[in-house]
Amino acid sequence: MTPSLTDDGPRLLRGGPIASGIREQVAADVATFRAEFGHAPALAVLVVGKDAPSAVYLHKILDGCRLVGIEDRLVELHADATEADIAEALRDLQRDPHVAGIITQMPLPPGIPLRAVIDVLDPLRDIDGIHPLNAGLLSLGYDGFLPATAHAAVEILVQSGIELSGKHAVVIGRSNVVGKPAALLLLRENATVTVCHSRTVDLTSVTRTADIVVVAIGRAGFVTGDMLKPGAVVVDVGINVVDGRLVGDVDFASASLVASAITPVPGGVGPLTNAILLTHLVQAARNQATGLIPLGASSLAVAMPEAR
Ligand code: NAP
Repeated sequence: MTPSLTDDGPRLLRGGPIASGIREQVAADVATFRAEFGHAPALAVLVVGKDAPSAVYLHKILDGCRLVGIEDRLVELHADATEADIAEALRDLQRDPHVAGIITQMPLPPGIPLRAVIDVLDPLRDIDGIHPLNAGLLSLGYDGFLPATAHAAVEILVQSGIELSGKHAVVIGRSNVVGKPAALLLLRENATVTVCHSRTVDLTSVTRTADIVVVAIGRAGFVTGDMLKPGAVVVDVGINVVDGRLVGDVDFASASLVASAITPVPGGVGPLTNAILLTHLVQAARNQATGLIPLGASSLAVAMPEAR
């Protein structure tokens, strides 16, 4: 279905209703899993420092688990935890046969490299796709675990019936967790993809050619209506707090005058991300219970340099 401009403004692509449907399916899948294997799968969250900015978000994920019958484990380490403490906590979780998936608070505290997690994290339990094995599987077009936010950013378009094949999609942001995997997923959907970043020259001249714009930069209201082609579809991944309010990376007021469809913040990509993470958990549990090992998982070299 192609969205159209109306006098009432753009079509709002809300994540909540899609997420509800996904959660219902997850609850049914968890019940089936429990009947087949005698226990519910568990999702574990590792938080380093109680006051970490993402701690609230992670607690929300655990609340969501309980609603669909997924067991939850929370490990909270002190803010001054060492790399060895983090490694030990992850190993402990991975010894628990019920723990099918693990997510770790990001960003890690200053001084703790991502490798502290990646060197220990079992790629089969990496349900938020941060491990190089899963990133590699995505880039080669195989099924691994996708970063949930990027997955949600593209899934909201797919589930909303937005045509992607042959469209020019511009992704602003190239992080490993959002921009890059979102670009690869859009490519998988046969969009023609351009990735922009902080060094892109004349960003507006690029975004104005886009049928679809996915914005993940972390700057409140950065993308304005004058940067968009009339009728563009806009996915705002950004989450910023301004004067105590949650706002996206897109200036919703001006973008709404030009876009044909847009994800609101809050209520767009965010709610879908959490629901999608639960589908990854159920998939991980099933893979582990049935012995399905993604390509290469058993022979990953550990002597990689820190990614740049
Ligand atoms: P990040 O790691 O900081 O990456 C930001 C990206 O934006 C970088 O690639 C950067 O370019 C680019 N960028 C920064 N300023 C720019 C500019 N002026 N013009 C063009 N590109 C620019 O951020 P992230 O982790 O990807 O997160 C992005 C946003 O998504 C944040 O608002 C975050 O809160 C939000 N987020 C949402 C969810 C969700 O569930 N909805 C989950 C995770 C994150 P360089 O590479 O050149 O530096």
